[in-house]
Amino acid sequence: MKKVLILGSTGSIGVNALNVIRKFPDKFKVTGLTVNSNISVLKEQIEEFNPEFVVVKDQNKADELAKSIRSKTEVLFGNPGLIEAAQSRDFDILIGAVVGFAGLIPTLEAIKRGKRIALANKETLVVAGEIVTRLVAENGSEIIPVDSEHSAIYQCLIGENLKEVEKLILTASGGPFLNKEKSFFDNATVDEALNHPNWKMGSKITIDSATMMNKGLEVIEAHWLFGLPFDKIDVVIHPQSIIHSMVQFVDGSIKAQLGLPDMKLPIQYALSFPERFENDFMRTNLPLINNLTFFEPDFDKFECLKLAYQVLETGGTAPCILNAANEVAVDKFLKGLIKFSDIPKFINKALNKIENHSNPDIETIIECDKLTRKFVNTLN
Ligand code: NAD
Ligand code: MG
Repeated sequence: MKKVLILGSTGSIGVNALNVIRKFPDKFKVTGLTVNSNISVLKEQIEEFNPEFVVVKDQNKADELAKSIRSKTEVLFGNPGLIEAAQSRDFDILIGAVVGFAGLIPTLEAIKRGKRIALANKETLVVAGEIVTRLVAENGSEIIPVDSEHSAIYQCLIGENLKEVEKLILTASGGPFLNKEKSFFDNATVDEALNHPNWKMGSKITIDSATMMNKGLEVIEAHWLFGLPFDKIDVVIHPQSIIHSMVQFVDGSIKAQLGLPDMKLPIQYALSFPERFENDFMRTNLPLINNLTFFEPDFDKFECLKLAYQVLETGGTAPCILNAANEVAVDKFLKGLIKFSDIPKFINKALNKIENHSNPDIETIIECDKLTRKFVNTLN
């Protein structure tokens, strides 16, 4: 029986992780759940899974929750609660399903204890990939990716020698604006950008898919997970999202992993690895799908994708600046404060303004994140 702590249990990945865990009551036990503010959903999760503790970011909401539950579940709050959960509570697997920079510090704490990390929170690897991978190696921890592309690559690499990999090929749906002209981006609405053709996800990653920053973040994520340089990580548009990604080897052979666009499978794999558990999830019917197509991405139209490759090449705190600027810009766009086309503009301004530090330690990364947020918040 594996004990599981879910960071971000009320989000799209968190809820799907509980959908997986519910199917395997003899294999997994939920010991802890953490959320930002959605205590009504958390309350239902507590009643069903009876965790030992939960963490709520907001103290008032944590107090409100503590008064209203009957179970013995302990209620912690704030960042100190989140860090305590990762640092000293009992669990075997941490599911990193928080969105954004907020996932970094608790994930690092669990890595220092040698835990398995089922990682959806790609921002953690984007901002601090060097530190994360070093600590994983030093502490005997392991990251099993939940991001579907990286889960696909992970599965393709089983039994292979990394030295014989010629390149990784990340597939991208292209998002809701694949067939729009760049001029459309000035007037694209929040509802249009949130209307993803294949995946139902949280709002931040859905906007990232519309700008293709999501694929850019995934290129950086792949670099740290699999140790390949940026020029060996390609992106190909594949609108059906059936091939989740591929690996091309030095002899020209390509391995791919296929499946329906459903995050339950990569989540389950990150929990069950190295085993595979039988399940009743819907199967992929290839004749029904009938048609799989591929295109080159348009780097001029999707500037965020180009910027992500650039910061990966630059290194240092450049990926942290890109990430923080993107988080703030996406938040402003979602609130209707800026245009869709402002997102890459703001990121560019931040990259030009904020000083880059090479080989940053964690304090430098935290400071860089703060400075960038402050700067981008002044833009309009
Ligand atoms: P979401 O917005 O649906 O959920 C985010 C969760 O994190 C919620 O439970 C929320 O309470 C919690 N949270 C948010 N801010 C917090 C903070 N400051 N402190 C503590 N908790 C906080 O997001 P999501 O779509 O589930 O995505 C989560 C992560 O997984 C992201 O990094 C995303 O890029 C990645 N991911 C998501 C999908 C997907 O299908 N949704 C696929 C691949 C990767
Ligand atoms: Mg993905």
